[in-house]
Amino acid sequence: MTDTKTWLEWSAQYLMNTYARNPLVLVRGEGTRVWDSDGKEYLDFVGGIAVDALGHSHPKVVAAITEQAGRLIQVSNLYHIAPQIELAKLLTEHSFADKVFFCTSGAEANEGAIKLARRYGKERFATDRYEIITMRGGFHGRTLAALAATAQEKHHHGFEPLPIGFKYVAFGDLRAVEQAVDNRTCAILVEPVQGEGGVNVPGDEYLPGLRKLCDETGALLILDEIQSGMGRTGRLWAYQHWGAEPDVMTVAKALGGGVPIGAILAKEFVAKHLTPGSHGSTFGGNSLATATALAVLTTMLEENLPARAERMGRRLKERLTALKQKYPAIKTVRGLGLLIGMELDRPVKEIVAGCQADGLLILTAGDNVLRFVPPLIVDDVELDRAVEILDTVLGRSLP
Ligand SMILES: *Cc1c(COP(=O)(O)O)cnc(C)c1O
Repeated sequence: MTDTKTWLEWSAQYLMNTYARNPLVLVRGEGTRVWDSDGKEYLDFVGGIAVDALGHSHPKVVAAITEQAGRLIQVSNLYHIAPQIELAKLLTEHSFADKVFFCTSGAEANEGAIKLARRYGKERFATDRYEIITMRGGFHGRTLAALAATAQEKHHHGFEPLPIGFKYVAFGDLRAVEQAVDNRTCAILVEPVQGEGGVNVPGDEYLPGLRKLCDETGALLILDEIQSGMGRTGRLWAYQHWGAEPDVMTVAKALGGGVPIGAILAKEFVAKHLTPGSHGSTFGGNSLATATALAVLTTMLEENLPARAERMGRRLKERLTALKQKYPAIKTVRGLGLLIGMELDRPVKEIVAGCQADGLLILTAGDNVLRFVPPLIVDDVELDRAVEILDTVLGRSLP
């Protein structure tokens, strides 16, 4: 059997060094727990970065994959794909959307949404109406256009020239967006709750204000719900907290329960601008991925996991907020549902490492924010245990 040291050596030798990886080889998972190659157990509050909403190896997900893999994995989108049709139907029945396009990742969904918005702006209004307003601290993916939409210059470095046509304004600032919109604006693209950018929840007037602005100017409202969607914030979609519907929404991460899939959801008046041959994806919405996503979404709805995320999120937020009394280094605890951030007055890298050593996996969101995105099936005992581990580590790490 290959030992951990050898795995790490081979990893360094054969893989491009694009991730600041923790020196850990994860080999098995069940529910909210994972095990490394030495057999050590961890509570997983990373969940594949807000992907494993149903936890690891959920029986319904495993059954869907197994059954579909034995029947049909991939055919071309030149043919109709039964589970893809069923999944699109279910997604539209449970959202604002009329139509769905499937792809394989979040970045690809945003690329497609950007193409859709440009085509819409040009065909509906004018050829120079292609600009998209995005928000500082946002994150939309690593492909070139998604990167250009991502208003965090640290991610751009060395990859210029990026596609033009993006304008950045401060997140949560309605006035700034109002001032930035003009007759070249085809869309506003925003995460309802910023994930990577620090777990930032906007004020209650923000999304409804953006909706109104779009209605007045003809710009499309595109919501990137790749991280905030699929029950994560306590509603199936985060926009439902504010009753402000988008025209276009991108989804990925938790949609496939770990099988790569992304989607663009849209109203018909926008969707109709993508015509045969104008966009596509070889693997997009293939039989295996959509059959799996169908099981994920069905289970999520049957077990009312968004409500569970709200309940468990409230508990986690309370517990984390209580730590503030004890550690003045904690500045704020914020978030919605089970998308929670804890901002410290210092870099948190060491705390993440400390938690890992004590058996808890957590994420960062920027340098100073700890991010908690456990599976939505997390229970009270696991949640309290996680906070206990964090408490111990903070006690050890903070002066
Ligand atoms: C993760 C993420 C993406 C990118 O998704 P990939 O599947 O990694 O391409 C885009 N937007 C948001 C909000 C995300 O959290």
